[in-house]
Amino acid sequence: MYIAGEWCRGETGRTAPVLNPANEKTVGEVPLATVADLDRALEASVTGFEAWRAAPIARRTAILCDAADRLTARADHVGRIMTIEQGKPFKEARGEVLRVADSLRWNAENARRAYGRVIPSAPDTVLSVRREPIGPVAAFTPWNFPAGSPMRKISAALAAGCSIIIKASEETPGTACEIVRCFDEAGLPAGALNLVFGEPAEVSSHLIASPVTRLVAFTGSIPVGRLLASAAGAAMKPSVMELGGHAPVIVCADADPVTAAKRAAAAKFANAGQVCTSPSRFLVHESGYERFVSAFVEEAEEVVIGDGLADGVTMGPLANDRRLAAMEELVADATERGAKVLCGGQRLDRPGYFFAPTVLVDVPEDAELMREEPFGPLAPVVPFSDLDEALRIANSLPYGLAAYGFTGSAATAERLVRDLEAGILSINHCGGSVHEAPSGGFKSSGYGREGGEEGLDAYLVTKRVSHRLN
Ligand code: NAD
Repeated sequence: MYIAGEWCRGETGRTAPVLNPANEKTVGEVPLATVADLDRALEASVTGFEAWRAAPIARRTAILCDAADRLTARADHVGRIMTIEQGKPFKEARGEVLRVADSLRWNAENARRAYGRVIPSAPDTVLSVRREPIGPVAAFTPWNFPAGSPMRKISAALAAGCSIIIKASEETPGTACEIVRCFDEAGLPAGALNLVFGEPAEVSSHLIASPVTRLVAFTGSIPVGRLLASAAGAAMKPSVMELGGHAPVIVCADADPVTAAKRAAAAKFANAGQVCTSPSRFLVHESGYERFVSAFVEEAEEVVIGDGLADGVTMGPLANDRRLAAMEELVADATERGAKVLCGGQRLDRPGYFFAPTVLVDVPEDAELMREEPFGPLAPVVPFSDLDEALRIANSLPYGLAAYGFTGSAATAERLVRDLEAGILSINHCGGSVHEAPSGGFKSSGYGREGGEEGLDAYLVTKRVSHRLN
């Protein structure tokens, strides 16, 4: 852990093992914080906040950009650690490290333009609106993007001038440590950034209840998000919630079904489907259905599964045994309800949490797979004859994170954009997130935005100042 500018193992030396999901072997130990460790982090985040908010913006930007450069230079090293503890192919892991370094630069530069405004008022009064850092942030991030999730929160908090205590995932601690090392070496004041691990419920309840914490930021599942949002609400603290999704992909009659299948399959099997914006319900117009399904199966069969450090591997194992069990349950439930598995459908007979890329058809709407976020390499494909019906199915769940549409018509595209209930929409591709634009959900998928100009909003408070001059 990293508390008050010092690396430490925690008060009691209590640890949990960290596993490599490609072979289930223990690769290290992660320390677990006690309440006393958390209290030290809270105290440090107060002094860290005072020092950091007082630093000139040019100095803050320089430190953050220096940390970004250090991370960029270590992309191979950090990517390798990520693959070992999370499983994704090295190329994806390295790409994630490079992307997050760039997102840090973007947030650092964006913070220089977090302007307030002066409002016309009486001649003897200056009326202005200032934007100030909200204060110490408590953040909690999951294991699927071991660099991406922590950095979204760290970079926004520090760019805004806040301090932050981050509890990164106990399943992928090495990547988080390497990120924090870059800030430490870049000269961030002690206490501005603190990294802890522990029993998630213990850590979050203590940090959220503390009067020191001014904002709660979480990425993870909807049930845990509800819990943390309730705790934040009880303590009257704002929160940013980046929760799950179950993204529909609507392939219209006028789209090329083969191109749609290729683009959607590439997104589906990235990070073995463990992405909150992963395309996960495929609604295809009946005219192109057969061609879409056969092209999608072809893509699924071309996926090369293995240890993410091996050359040529395009999909690693699932990150933990919970996902493996969830995949087995979802496939069993769907097939019991009449779905057909066209490829995959089971775990691989070898050590490691490997599950084959899976395509299912004839999946009824009441199958768990059509209602619960799969968070794994499962693709249920369903035909439709009428766009209204496809939109009804797409919007029928409490999720509203990402949605995708394929069409050759500008008018149909605008219809999809208008009617799909999702915070992140892509037409004719299934692209990933970009720093320049905000990400976040509708409905139970959460609230608040990360990235883009909006990404700093939650980390800043607005102060109205009326200054009478005589
Ligand atoms: P989970 O719901 O138990 O945990 C999700 C994350 O929340 C983990 O990082 C966990 O450490 C953390 N967490 C759990 N309880 C917490 C608490 N009381 N306080 C603070 N943090 C807590 O499940 P899981 O098995 O790790 O993941 C399964 C599901 O989570 C997936 O099916 C997916 O829906 C969702 N998930 C979503 C994202 C995302 O990016 N939105 C990322 C990872 C997992």
